Order: sequence, then C-alpha cells, then structure tokens
Amino acid sequence: MEIIDGKKISAQVKQEIADEVARMTAEGKKVPHLAAVLVGNDPASETYVASKVKACQAVGIKSSEFRYGSDISEEQLLEVIDRLNDDADVDGFIVQLPLPKHISEEKVLNRISPDKDVDGFHPCNVGRMVLGLPTFLPATPAGIVELIARYGIETEGKHCVVVGRSNIVGTPMAVLMSRKAKHANCTVTMCHSRTKNLKEITLQADILIVAIGVPNFIKEDMVREGAVVIDVGIHRVPSETAKSGWKLIGDVDYDHVAPKCSYITPVPGGVGPMTIVSLLKNTLLACQKRG
Ligand code: NDP
Repeated sequence: MEIIDGKKISAQVKQEIADEVARMTAEGKKVPHLAAVLVGNDPASETYVASKVKACQAVGIKSSEFRYGSDISEEQLLEVIDRLNDDADVDGFIVQLPLPKHISEEKVLNRISPDKDVDGFHPCNVGRMVLGLPTFLPATPAGIVELIARYGIETEGKHCVVVGRSNIVGTPMAVLMSRKAKHANCTVTMCHSRTKNLKEITLQADILIVAIGVPNFIKEDMVREGAVVIDVGIHRVPSETAKSGWKLIGDVDYDHVAPKCSYITPVPGGVGPMTIVSLLKNTLLACQKRG
C-alpha cells in the first residue's frame, strides 16, 4: 500500500508555478493577480481565504482581498463583481462560499466573467469541461487528477466509482475521469444518497473517489483488495490524544481501509493541499491567456 502524499506533490507543483511566475516576471510580463471576495465572517471561510492568500504569496502571485459585511445587498455584491470583471489588473477572482441567505449564489457566480472564473464554477466553464475544451477546471477534482497523474496510477479502462454528486466535487470528478484523455478513460459510476446497494457498487471500484461529507463512512468491507482510494472528505472531530483536542478525518475509515488499498490519500495531507494548488494554476493560466 502506498500513501498518496498530497503535501509533497502540492509542494512540487507550487515550485513549478513559482518558477513560471519568476520567468514571466523576468521577461517583464505582468505578475498574475488573484482577488478573493469574502462576505461576512464565517470562520471557515476566513481560514480558506487566508490560506489562499498565503499560497499566492509563496509562489509570487499577487493577491488582494475584498471584504464585506454580511449585510451587503445582492445588488451591491453584483456591482463588486462587475468592477472586478472590468479591473485590468485582476486576472482571476473567487467569491468565497457560502454567501448569506439573502444573496443568490447562482446569480453571483453567473456574473463572474468566465475568463476570470478561476474556480471553474461558471456554467460556461462547466460546459467547456464537459465538452473537453480548454477551461478552468474546478480545483478539487483537478487536484485529484494531478495526484493520479503524478503517482502514475493506471486509469485507462478502469472502473472508477465516485460517491457524491455535488457541483464542486462529485459531478466534475465523474466527468473528468470519464473523458477521452490521459489520466482518464475510466468507466465511471456515480453514486449518491439515493443509490441502492452502494456497497455492491463500491466493491467493484478499481478507483474509488469519495466526497460525501460523512465521517468514516466507507468501511473496509466496501472496498476491494488493491483498490485506489481517494478521500475528499474533511471533518474536525474531538480527539483525546491530540494536544488541540481535535483532529481531522475523512469520509473513509482510513485505519481499516488503508491495508486493503494499492494507493490511498490520507486526511489531512491528501486531497486538501491540492485544492489550493489548482487555484494557483488556474490564476497563472488566466494571466497567460490574457497575455
Ligand atoms: P455536498 O454535501 O455538497 O455533497 C455530498 C454528496 O454526497 C451529495 O451528492 C449526496 O447525495 C452524497 N451523499 C451524502 N450522504 C450519502 C450517503 N450516505 N451515501 C451516498 N451518498 C451520499 O458535499 P461536497 O461535495 O461539497 O463535499 C464532500 C466532502 O468533501 C465534505 O466533507 C467536504 O468538507 C469535503 N471537501 C473537501 C475539499 C478539499 O479540498 N479536500 C473540497 C471540497 C469539499 P445527494 O446529492 O443525493 O444529496
């Protein structure tokens, strides 16, 4: 069994991005610029935005934050998006979700110019992904493909079972793994909360990708010997042994499942670190596309 080291791979990719940014800067080209819009003060969102800003700094990408109180109106937020769409210095931007209930996430995400949509959530970019056209791929699924590629995991003709069908993870993951492309070409089955006989299906998986948001849900009797298991879930749970009093676990019961796997991602240190790296890659791409 080999543990897929997302921390190591993300450090490698970050170095490659940093080298590319340095090369562009040395040639007198524009420094890529990522902007992040944060509404309200949800602690998890604060942490995500802070880590995105830190990651930008580490690779030489310029970042800026636009913070608003949770009382900002939908109209005002849409004006902010319009300004960022028109700002020639900003190559790409993200609006950190979730948004307050009085603001339509759909309206906001649809207002972002597809050319600056580095999260890859705009319907145009989702459509381009489905058609296999060049686009900004959503960060978490793209990070998982990168892990599979860098570990040289064989995907062609394999049965990939994706558990979870969210717009940001499960659905794009299933699309990417089924593409007629390198590091894809899988036969894909997508499962969700209405799937009957889930265990029968997960047991058929050569590659099992789990993004359901239920701690330790996938047990050893649901995984076949030699499977590749990718765990997207992140949960903070109380821990008597950790100094902090809590630890992170995934959707997969790692301790019992890992011995059966050929490859497995740990939590933390598996998929998580790759998500930010994909965002940096998209920002670099956005800058290069704008020339
Ligand atoms: P969502 O809650 O949006 O989607 C969960 C999906 O899992 C839904 O499609 C749901 O089915 C399905 N599901 C829920 N329970 C079951 C069940 N018992 N059996 C089968 N399917 C089930 O979650 P996300 O995709 O946003 O996130 C999933 C997990 O990944 C979370 O723990 C999240 O924190 C984590 N995450 C981690 C990231 C990272 O960077 N590592 C990035 C994004 C998410 P249905 O559609 O029928 O409701």
